[in-house]
Amino acid sequence: MERKIPADSSIAAASIPLPAGLTLPLEVRVHGRGGQGGVTCAKLIAALFTEMGLFVQTFGDYGSERSGAPVQAYTRVDRVAIKNRNKVYRPDHLIVLDEGLMGAQVLEGVAPGSLLLLNTNASPGSFAGRFERYRFGTIDATAIAREQGIGSTAVVIINTTILGAYARLLGLPLSVLEKAYTSLGLGGDLAAAKHAYEQVRVSEAVREIEAPAVSAAGAPPPAVAAMLGHSRDFPATLKTGSWSNQVPVYSEHPAPCNLACPAGNDVVGFIQALKNNGAEEAAAILLRTQPLPSVCGRVCPAPCMQACNRGAFDGAVNIRSLERWIADHSTLKPTPQIDEHPLHVAVIGGGPAGLSAAYQLALRGHSVTIYEASPALGGVLRNGIPAFRLPQEALSRDIDRILKLGVEARCGSRVSKADLDRLAHDFDAVIACVGFGSALDLEAKGGGLDGVEQGLAFLDRVKRSGEKLKGNVVVVGGGNTAIDCARTALRCGAASVKIVYRRSRADMPAIAEEIEDAGHEGVEIVPYRQPVEFLGSGAVSGVVVAEVEAGPPDASGRRRPVVTSRTSSLACDKVLLALGQKSEIELMPDGWKMKDGRAWLGERLLPVWFAGDCSTGDGTVTHAIGSGRLAALAVLNGCDAAQDGAGAADPVAPGQIRFSHFDVTPSHKDGQLPPAALAGNFQEVNLGLKGPEEAQRCFSCGHCTHCDTCLISCPDGVIVRIADGYRVDGEYCKGCGMCVAECPRNAMTMQDKNHKGVRV
Ligand SMILES: Cc1cc2nc3c(=O)[nH]c(=O)nc-3n(C[C@H](O)[C@H](O)[C@H](O)COP(=O)(O)OP(=O)(O)OC[C@H]3O[C@@H](n4cnc5c(N)ncnc54)[C@H](O)[C@@H]3O)c2cc1C
Ligand code: SF4
Ligand code: SF4
Ligand code: SF4
Repeated sequence: MERKIPADSSIAAASIPLPAGLTLPLEVRVHGRGGQGGVTCAKLIAALFTEMGLFVQTFGDYGSERSGAPVQAYTRVDRVAIKNRNKVYRPDHLIVLDEGLMGAQVLEGVAPGSLLLLNTNASPGSFAGRFERYRFGTIDATAIAREQGIGSTAVVIINTTILGAYARLLGLPLSVLEKAYTSLGLGGDLAAAKHAYEQVRVSEAVREIEAPAVSAAGAPPPAVAAMLGHSRDFPATLKTGSWSNQVPVYSEHPAPCNLACPAGNDVVGFIQALKNNGAEEAAAILLRTQPLPSVCGRVCPAPCMQACNRGAFDGAVNIRSLERWIADHSTLKPTPQIDEHPLHVAVIGGGPAGLSAAYQLALRGHSVTIYEASPALGGVLRNGIPAFRLPQEALSRDIDRILKLGVEARCGSRVSKADLDRLAHDFDAVIACVGFGSALDLEAKGGGLDGVEQGLAFLDRVKRSGEKLKGNVVVVGGGNTAIDCARTALRCGAASVKIVYRRSRADMPAIAEEIEDAGHEGVEIVPYRQPVEFLGSGAVSGVVVAEVEAGPPDASGRRRPVVTSRTSSLACDKVLLALGQKSEIELMPDGWKMKDGRAWLGERLLPVWFAGDCSTGDGTVTHAIGSGRLAALAVLNGCDAAQDGAGAADPVAPGQIRFSHFDVTPSHKDGQLPPAALAGNFQEVNLGLKGPEEAQRCFSCGHCTHCDTCLISCPDGVIVRIADGYRVDGEYCKGCGMCVAECPRNAMTMQDKNHKGVRV
C-alpha cells in the first residue's frame, strides 16, 4: 500500500507536527503470526503517518502461510515519494507481536539504538542482558485486547492495541492517536489503544554493544543446501510449538440450561446420556438431583428451555419433555449409600421440597421421617395440580422411588408449634417444608354468598371426590391456580368459564402453555378487570367488575393496576378465587424467627431449616426441589444454606456456538390428546414425545462430544485422539487457535502458556 497525501489534505503536515527526535526516512518492521493482524498493524502505522502528511509505503511478506505461521510486514515513511520496494532489512523500529517469535532472526538487521517494542506480559527489566543495545519497550497488548474483547474467542487481535503503545514511544500526543483512530474508523478499539499508550514500559538505557551480524540486502546470501540435504530431514522437524504463546485447552463451560434449572439438574449431561446411551443412563444422571422427574417433565415452567442456546437458532430443545421421556421409560432405582453414623432428620411437609430434602438425605444413608398433614404425600402435586396435567400414577411412581430408599412417611400428622419444638429436640435436624400459608381472600361485598369459594379448596375436593358443576363460572386470578380452576371447572360440567384478571394477559404469571391450552379448551380471559362486588341472594348470581388501568410499573416491573369507577357485571353461578397464598409459617413456636432459611430463638441458632415455598416463596415445583436439596446438604454440612457451585461462571452464549455446524431441525413437539368432550374427562392432555430423537438437537453447549472437528481443522495435524479425549502436541502446536474457532460448542479455549495449570 502506498499513499501520498494530496497537498490540500485536511490533515496537513502542519496540523500534526512530526514528533521530536524522529528522523526520516523511517523503516518499521512488524513480526507477528498469520491471523494476529501483523500486516494490518503495519498498515495502521502507515495510516498514522499519513495523518501527518507524510509519504508511506507498507506491505506484508507472506504467501501460503497458514494461521499461526510467522509473518513479517513493513512500513516505510518519508517526506518524499518512496521508490525503494525492497523488504525492510535494517529497521529503525521493530515491533514484535508475539514473544514466542523473539530470536536472532527477528533481530536481524536491527542496529543498536533502534526502537524495539515487544508484546509480552513481562517488564523490560525481566529481559536483563538481552535487548540492552536497543531502546526497548514492552506492553501486554494481548491482555488489554482480550479484556476489551478485540478478536475472536480463539485469537485475540492486538494490532490496534499495540499501535497505542507505539504511538507513545514515537512521542505522539494522545490527541493525535484519538484523531487518527476516529478518522480510520477504529473508534471501537481506541479504549484498548489508550490503555496500551498509558501502560507501555520502556527501558531507555541503551548500551553500546556490537550489533549482531546482519544479512541485509546486498550481503552475500547464505549457501543453499542441495535438494538432497533438504529432503534428508523429511518429515520436517521444525518444532513450531516454540512459536506460540497461547495453547488450546479442552475445558468444559457451563451450559445455560444447567445454570437455569432451579432443581440443579445436569441438563446437558442427561440429554447427552440419553442420546448416546439411552434412558437408563440418562436417568442415573437426572436422579442425582431430581427426585420427581415424572412431575417436572410434565408441569415445570422449564426456565431451562428459556435459556437454551438453540432458541436463538431454530427453537429451544424440548428439555422438559425429554425429562418426562426419561422418567417414563426408565426403571432405575437409586441405591442408597451406607453412612456409618447416620443422622436422624425430621421433614415436615411432604410436598416437592420435603420430598427432595428427604430423598437427598436418604440417598446418602441418613434416616428420614416425613410428617405430612394430608392423608398422602405430594403437597400441591397431590391436592392442587389436576390429573389432566399430572396423573396420580406419574406422581406415585416418583414418590414410591423415594420411599423405597427407606424414608418413613407419617401421613395425617399435622405438626403443631409444640410438636416442632419437640422434634427439634428429638431429631438431629428438622427441615420444615410446609408450603405457603392460607389462601388470600377478596375483600368485596357479597363474598360470603354460596358459590363463592377458594379455588384451592375446589381443586382439592375435585381430586378427592369429584364434583359436578352447572352454569357459568368466574375465576379470579392469573396464576397456575386460576388456570387449573378454569380448566377443571370445564371438566366438571360448567357451561362457560371466564378468568377475570386485573392486569394484561401477558402479565399472567401462569405457565404460558397452560394459558394457551385453556384458551383452546374454551376458557375466556377477561383482562384489566377487578371484582368489586358479588351479586345474589343466598347464592351468587353475578360479579360486578371494575375496569382497571395500567399505572406506573411496580417493584415487579409490571404495571400497577389502578381500579377505576367504571363497572359492568358478569352473570355467574360460581366464583373461584385464585388470588395467591399468604407466605406465613403457622407452626412457628413463640419467640422463634426465621432468618436466611434457619430458625432462631433470640440469639440461639436452632437445628431447624426451612425449604420450598415457605422459605423462598418462589412458587414452582423445580424451585421447591432445588431448595429442598440445598437444605438437606446444608444439614449435612452444618451450614445455613448450601449453594450450587455452578452459579458463578458465565454460561456459554449463543454467539459462542457455531450455528453453521448444525442443520436447522424443528423441535419435536409433544403429542396432544385428540379433541374430545371435556366434561368428566380428566385424561392427561399432553401425551409427551413419541421418542427420544429430540435429544439429537442438543448442541451440548460447552461440553465436548468427541466430534473430531478440532482434530480435523488443525492445519498442522497436531491433535490426536486418546482414550479419554484429545491431546494437543505442544511441541508442534503453533497456537493458531483454528481448533478453538472451529469447535461447534465452545468446549476448548486458548490459554496463555504461562496460565496456571497449562502445560505443553
Ligand atoms: C393449583 C396450583 C397449580 C400449580 N401448578 C404449578 C405448575 O404447573 N408448575 C409448577 O412448577 N408449580 C406449580 N404450582 C406451584 C407448586 O405446586 C408449588 O410451588 C410447590 O408445590 C411448592 O412445594 P412445597 O413443597 O414448598 O410446598 P407444598 O407443595 O405446598 O407442600 C407443603 C406440604 O406441607 C404440608 N404441611 C403444611 N403444614 C403442615 C404441618 N403443620 N404439618 C405437616 N404437614 C404440613 C402440606 O399438607 C403439604 O403437603 C402450582 C400451585 C398450585 C396451588
Ligand atoms: S426441572 Fe424444569 S428447569 Fe430443570 S431441567 Fe427439568 S424442565 Fe428444565
Ligand atoms: S442446546 Fe443443549 S446444552 Fe445447549 S442450552 Fe440447549 S439443551 Fe442446553
Ligand atoms: S471440536 Fe468437537 S471434539 Fe473438539 S473440543 Fe469441540 S466438541 Fe470436542
